[in-house]
Amino acid sequence: MICKADIIIKSSQIWTGNIDETIYGGIAIKKNRILYVGFQDLDKYIGPNTKILDYGDQLVIPGIHDGHVHMLMTALMNSGKCPSLYDAKSEKECVDIVKRYDKPQNLIGGWIIGMGWYQLLWDNKKLPTKKSLDNAFPDTPVFLMDSNAHTTWVNSEALRRLNFTPQNTKDNIDFGKFENGELTGIIGEASFMKLSSQIMTADEKTTSKLFIDTIKRMNSFGITQIDDVAGSAVPDSDQIADQSWKQIYSENKLNIRVNLFPTLLDDFSRIHQIENNCGRATGDSMIGIAGVKSFFDGVSSMHTAYLSEPYSDAQNPDDRGHLTIKPDVMQRRVLKAAKEGYCVKIHAIGDGAVTEALNVYENVEKELDNKVLSKVQFNIEHLENIEEKDIERLRDLNVIASVQPAHALIDPAGEEKDLGEKRTKMMWPFRHYLARGTKIAFGTDSPVVDFNPFENLYNAVTRKSINGGKPWESQNSINIQEALRAYTLGSARCSNRQKDLGTIENGKLADIAVLNCNILKSSPEDFLKTNAVMTMVNGKIVYGG
Ligand SMILES: [Zn+2]
Repeated sequence: MICKADIIIKSSQIWTGNIDETIYGGIAIKKNRILYVGFQDLDKYIGPNTKILDYGDQLVIPGIHDGHVHMLMTALMNSGKCPSLYDAKSEKECVDIVKRYDKPQNLIGGWIIGMGWYQLLWDNKKLPTKKSLDNAFPDTPVFLMDSNAHTTWVNSEALRRLNFTPQNTKDNIDFGKFENGELTGIIGEASFMKLSSQIMTADEKTTSKLFIDTIKRMNSFGITQIDDVAGSAVPDSDQIADQSWKQIYSENKLNIRVNLFPTLLDDFSRIHQIENNCGRATGDSMIGIAGVKSFFDGVSSMHTAYLSEPYSDAQNPDDRGHLTIKPDVMQRRVLKAAKEGYCVKIHAIGDGAVTEALNVYENVEKELDNKVLSKVQFNIEHLENIEEKDIERLRDLNVIASVQPAHALIDPAGEEKDLGEKRTKMMWPFRHYLARGTKIAFGTDSPVVDFNPFENLYNAVTRKSINGGKPWESQNSINIQEALRAYTLGSARCSNRQKDLGTIENGKLADIAVLNCNILKSSPEDFLKTNAVMTMVNGKIVYGG
């Protein structure tokens, strides 16, 4: 006898992800799994207790999976307590915005924390200093991350509380100092990573509440799954709030599937601790560790991303960034991680770092047998520019390009300045990847950009900023089906969960979204008004109905 469904989702527009076209019919769901997708036999799954949800001709898709989120920072920026400086056009405007947040209820562990400034979008293009903040905030510590969360602008009170002096800075010897040697209040990425964990210390209860609010907003966009990725390379400051995740899960309030990727170091004790708290991300688990993440270089706007050739606007002949970890150390760690069954995400932004990451993966793959390899997935995060030869290496080594379409549109003029016209052609080259059969996954790197997936899809399809303007390197745009596949099946692959997730198929988990706009048929401008009508995670309706 056929097992009867708990819920049937009906629509004339079901996009399973397996083919470009939609199908007509329904999805029969029992507990957390899909029993059947289609039309012919659908009625056989209807029992006396089956709930039928008929969405008419609204679009049904596999739940969206953001493959790169920094949840703790995202939750802070989503809380309404932290100033957002993305639209500020000057240092003064930033300070004015921050002043509006100077209220006791907005402090996080006693600090004002903000994010989003980017001096290259300002008229004078100059890094700000502590002086402007000191005038406005003589006593409250202020910590303002730039738009890509690699550089921080603080006031004197913050420097004092962090005990950060010209002597103990880990940054480049001259970076962040006035001519007289005094600190300017700009902290580079090497020091920032060490400090961030001392500051983002909301207590667990507060963090859990912020997480739940953020998950609600994610669900409203049809997001059913995220990869929560370590935000720092430094031991003890991975910014993975495993205790809060555990608490939310144990209270039965976890309405999103979470794959954790803490920092990869030689010492695996923190990784194992997270696994003890949250388990493994496998099968139908809602929360667990899926793998590990490691930085390999920095960001191109600060010339810390590692390029094969110097920057176009090089300050000196060696100005091509650098690897943050020696390749042999990376290889040793990746090998160890793979042997323990952890997927790996390597942050590599410059083409030189991408090549080195591929070398690491190639060497590790040679040392592992197929049984071990079948349990893990190797990924590279960001790959902002890439040498053409490496696109095929990605494919041949089965390494996923885990990319963030919105990043391509943050500052195109800046990219051309840093990398030059020729390399710009091979920046975020989505079309090249797909043409060669290289697998891609989509994410946002939230809070670097907002996690609204429809804005990210708009960027991928149009190569235009959501704020308007001309398309940028539009030869690398892809169509909506390709983009949506990267955002569902592509991301599921990064955690090796494609057998259970990423498409709407018999036997897979019921992570599904219904949208208010048929993005497969509408103009990209309509993506920007798109929301979920219903979001289902693990067979449970978590948003709408
Ligand atoms: Zn990131």
